[in-house]
Amino acid sequence: MHMDPASPHPTPAQTVDEAVRRIRAHGERVTVARTAVLRVLADPSAPGYLTADGIFAEVNRAAPGVHRTTIYRALDALERLGLVVQTRMGQDAAAYRLAGELTGEDETFVHVRCNVCGTVTRAAGDLLDDAAKRLADDSGFRLDPMGVALTGVCANCATTPASRRAAP
Ligand SMILES: [Zn+2]
Repeated sequence: MHMDPASPHPTPAQTVDEAVRRIRAHGERVTVARTAVLRVLADPSAPGYLTADGIFAEVNRAAPGVHRTTIYRALDALERLGLVVQTRMGQDAAAYRLAGELTGEDETFVHVRCNVCGTVTRAAGDLLDDAAKRLADDSGFRLDPMGVALTGVCANCATTPASRRAAP
């Protein structure tokens, strides 16, 4: 993707425009639902990781009347086109975000998810390099940790007495 080297992070509007351009380049239709999903995911005030239900709620606020299944299908299409990336957050619903090549963000990170409060944060992408190398050396297995979240307890929850925590 061509980007001005002076501005590696495009604005949300530029990101949506670029995604729309790519949808057309694939010979696919640019629908209201697809554009709405892109806008929600490109919104800098969005939490960064949204479930399909969360995306539907946001779209519904901006453009009431769009059917839930239409949004789900739009998400599937955008994922198929490589514009949206899905991350499985443990047993919970998958979370979606825009592909790094659209946002100009480095994609080499590992997600860590707190079992207590559910917060998802990013850890350095090389966190598991040693483990991946050992696994490859030992068994030839190629680890791909980018699409999942590692689980544990975040610093905040680890220091909060259990009695004051919300039930998990
Ligand atoms: Zn926590």
